[in-house]
Amino acid sequence: MALPFIVIAVDGGAASGKSSTSRALAARFNLLHVDTGAHYRTVALSLLKRGIDSPEAFEAAENDLLAHLELGTQIDGHEAAMSISGEVPASEAIRNDAVNAVVSRFAAIPAVRKFLFDYQRSQAKVAEENGFAGLIMDGRDIGSVIFPDADLRIFLTADVAARERRRAAEGIGDSIASRDKLDASRKTAPLACPEGATLIDSTFLNLEQVVDKISDMIREKLGQKA
Ligand code: C5P
Repeated sequence: MALPFIVIAVDGGAASGKSSTSRALAARFNLLHVDTGAHYRTVALSLLKRGIDSPEAFEAAENDLLAHLELGTQIDGHEAAMSISGEVPASEAIRNDAVNAVVSRFAAIPAVRKFLFDYQRSQAKVAEENGFAGLIMDGRDIGSVIFPDADLRIFLTADVAARERRRAAEGIGDSIASRDKLDASRKTAPLACPEGATLIDSTFLNLEQVVDKISDMIREKLGQKA
């Protein structure tokens, strides 16, 4: 008998291990992994390229800056990437100081979040149509806004020093604390552990331990749904 299709939401602060954890789980359970941080980064890059470098400049623009952006999905293995006008930007193009400096400010604009809402919800269908056993989506508001009805909702946390060490080990500079502050204090879809989600503190856990912990939860869920 085929296993039931499963939707898993993984939220958490900057560098909390959401994407690495989700990637590993996607490979283990044949899920499609969608990193929604990359969506906000891709939109931020697109705005920067058009000379929009702040929410004020976004609001002041005469045209609807998002209306003509055509979103698509490119799948590589278990990873789904969002394209704009058929193009997926290189990882280095969206994970750098210039984008880190503005992405949370753009992500706080309700019109930007609204623009991505349907697209993000549509990824469950994309996963199903492409033969995956489920969808694992990571971000800040997946369990609260995008898939509040997900089969599993996980919220990852770790203290800031541990997260800074992880980013430094990856050789990446990041504005972890300031992005968390902006993300948690915005009015629309703020970063918070939604009620009913499972909180996992990974300060003293390595990636494998976190992946194993969630794997057990997934197996249990699949058992219940079968
Ligand atoms: O996950 P990552 O750190 O790459 O996300 C970059 C930024 O995108 C976050 O700091 C946050 O401002 C925004 N974001 C969001 N909602 C999501 C995912 C990311 O607001 N679901």
